[in-house]
Amino acid sequence: MKSKPLEISIVGAGIGGLVAALALKKRGHKPIIYEKTESLSELGAGIQLSPNANKVLKHLGVMEELQADIYEPEAFQFVHYRNGKVLAQQALKNSSVKIYGSPNYDIHRADLQKALLKVINKEEIQIKKNSEILDLYEEANGAFIKTKERLIGSDAVIGADGIHSIVRKKLWGEDKARYTGNVAWRMLVPIEEISSKFLQQNTKVWLGPKKHFVQYLVKGGNFLNCVCLVEQNDWMNEDWSEKGDISELKHIFSDWHPEIQEILESTKPGSLYKWGLHDRAPMNKWSKGRFSLLGDAAHPMLPFVAQGAAMAIEDGIVLASSLSSFDDVELGLNDYENKRKYRTAKAQRTASRNATIFHLSDFFAIFRNLVMKFFIKKIMDSFYKYDAISK
Ligand SMILES: Cc1cc2nc3c(=O)[nH]c(=O)nc-3n(C[C@H](O)[C@H](O)[C@H](O)COP(=O)(O)OP(=O)(O)OC[C@H]3O[C@@H](n4cnc5c(N)ncnc54)[C@H](O)[C@@H]3O)c2cc1C
Repeated sequence: MKSKPLEISIVGAGIGGLVAALALKKRGHKPIIYEKTESLSELGAGIQLSPNANKVLKHLGVMEELQADIYEPEAFQFVHYRNGKVLAQQALKNSSVKIYGSPNYDIHRADLQKALLKVINKEEIQIKKNSEILDLYEEANGAFIKTKERLIGSDAVIGADGIHSIVRKKLWGEDKARYTGNVAWRMLVPIEEISSKFLQQNTKVWLGPKKHFVQYLVKGGNFLNCVCLVEQNDWMNEDWSEKGDISELKHIFSDWHPEIQEILESTKPGSLYKWGLHDRAPMNKWSKGRFSLLGDAAHPMLPFVAQGAAMAIEDGIVLASSLSSFDDVELGLNDYENKRKYRTAKAQRTASRNATIFHLSDFFAIFRNLVMKFFIKKIMDSFYKYDAISK
């Protein structure tokens, strides 16, 4: 290690902030996490952990803590919204380790967070809850952040504070996240509620005009996690997350395959949530002086390539490596940014492009359905083969 052990303040205890803290600690640094909420909670939804993310989680000792809660799907499939025909697929369970060097898992977010927190505690990393960061500034001797009551100085500050990042705003000015014209509805359905003829061991993405439906098993295979992504012109709720009405969702998907009808029938009315999806264009520059950004704070994206958390996880390990490779903090942060900017921008752009491709209608959809089997592996390879630990 070229740098001396650094004191690093991480703003935000989401997946990105927690992984970054573990990676920095493993390199001998002293991270402290500042989180605005009083209790840490993740949305009651699933997350696909792709091989590129799992390489990092294994390296950081998180994988052992996940074993009871993961589900390993047989394959990833795109299917036709009406007849259920498989349009393209990629085998995963028996080939992911061979092709990508790591397995592919599906998990509930709360289970991932629980595992990360277990390792954070084991490593004796402090999380200061109820610590909303309101402002920041830099002086010759360090980077400073402020809560309502405290001023905190450290060698570097990492804004891992999500899509509405205050660190990003203070560094680079106001730049509102844009509403993408898509709403995500999400629900968790116990598998015993669903007829066994419809239960498969694949991650499935149903493609139809102006919407798509993602389903996969979580919690060791005991619950089906579903996300329904629907085009909608406006999104008024400032809170970005609200209870959904199952009759509205049934109406939206009324002409879809019987399997979708079965899942919607099995959904408990109170268990449905929806929120408007926002994103931002890739940034030209993230880091300034002793400050930088990570995860959704730097590169928020639509979930249409299932790589937002994976990119945050990769960021953490590269950040720790870059900061350890220079005896100057600013050079380390610039190195981190340079190593991550192109890849994360590509994920952002792929996600936006998929928003168009997934929701095509008529002739364009027929053409997509014919050719997508030739592209699925190439796109997956470009994300899944990456090994952030070697960067
Ligand atoms: C429908 C949907 C499905 C998705 N599916 C996948 C998937 O399958 N695979 C995948 O890889 N990604 C997926 N993603 C993306 C993924 O969820 C995000 O990219 C990831 O959670 C971002 O993590 P983060 O730590 O950067 O930010 P966040 O999770 O937003 O965490 C930010 C943290 O900072 C805290 N904070 C905010 N402001 C302050 C402040 N001022 N002071 C202190 N703390 C603060 C917040 O309370 C929060 O705890 C999906 C996203 C959506 C919407």
